[in-house]
Amino acid sequence: QAKEEGRNTYRFYTPSLTQTARERLGLEARLHRALASEEFVLHYQAQIDMRDGRLIGCEALVRWHSATEGLVAPDRFIPLAEETGLIVPLGEWVLRQACADCQSWRARGLTDLTVAVNLSGRQLRSPDLVERVTRVLRETGLPAERLKLELTESMIMDQREQALERLRALKALGVRLSIDDFGTGYSSLAYLKRLPIDELKIDRDFVRDIPEDSSDMEIAATIIAMARNLRLNVIAEGVETPEQCDFLIRQGCTAGQGYLFGRPLPAEAFAQVMRACGTTAC
Ligand code: C2E
Ligand code: MG
Ligand code: MG
Ligand code: MG
Repeated sequence: QAKEEGRNTYRFYTPSLTQTARERLGLEARLHRALASEEFVLHYQAQIDMRDGRLIGCEALVRWHSATEGLVAPDRFIPLAEETGLIVPLGEWVLRQACADCQSWRARGLTDLTVAVNLSGRQLRSPDLVERVTRVLRETGLPAERLKLELTESMIMDQREQALERLRALKALGVRLSIDDFGTGYSSLAYLKRLPIDELKIDRDFVRDIPEDSSDMEIAATIIAMARNLRLNVIAEGVETPEQCDFLIRQGCTAGQGYLFGRPLPAEAFAQVMRACGTTAC
């Protein structure tokens, strides 16, 4: 009986594994075509000063507008794009589009606007990253200080010395650097102090259960205090409720991003919201 089950299990898994592999290959091919036929789009989410609602910037978030599946979230294709290396050209497309959009909004009066772009580990490892960023800034005309690159702790820890050198070069361009999903990685304080970064972005995990989860609140408060000690900016992601907003402000975190202030929107809709809110205040 057990033996038969074992055999059944074996037979059951073989075709399904093959199917997974086939699906992956199919997705990989479709992603390549999607890049060539410009099926990727950027949505923008506001980053605001939570004390007065003033707009300080936005984060560019990529989506795949697939002809067959509709709007596909990044979690469903970024990992594979990362594995296959497609993230490098896709990431460059994202960077160029985000810089161009931000520059066109700046030209329409939003001169203080900053755009945040997510970088992947592969991009950080790419030897010509700094050249690529330099070229995109030159071609779009966006001043370097208006670009913020979001990197994760684990991405940096995986590459240590090389990453440090590259971050320094980006910093020298004038680009701002933010550590995304902060608190979920494993970087030591000693290492963090050496990084030429500007900002810690508190992960949504520590914001979600405020005010019910006291240990999450402790962690959020500790990150805010740490940022202050290290003279870094701090921003909270995933702010959904006024209670979360109040708690964060009380702890000294004034910048925030989340559904409470606005969902990610396509470029045109985002520009309309900005116009409706006036030029600098939302
Ligand atoms: P992330 O960089 O941490 O982005 C924040 C994610 O949280 C976004 O999901 C955003 O839509 C979502 N979010 C924002 N506010 C709230 C909120 O109040 N509540 C909740 N529940 N969620 C909120 P999204 O757009 O699905 O992106 C997921 C992840 O995909 C991003 O996490 C980022 O790691 C990655 N990603 C997105 N665009 C790019 C890109 O252009 N390049 C790379 N390498 N990764 C990207
Ligand atoms: Mg991000
Ligand atoms: Mg994040
Ligand atoms: Mg996150």
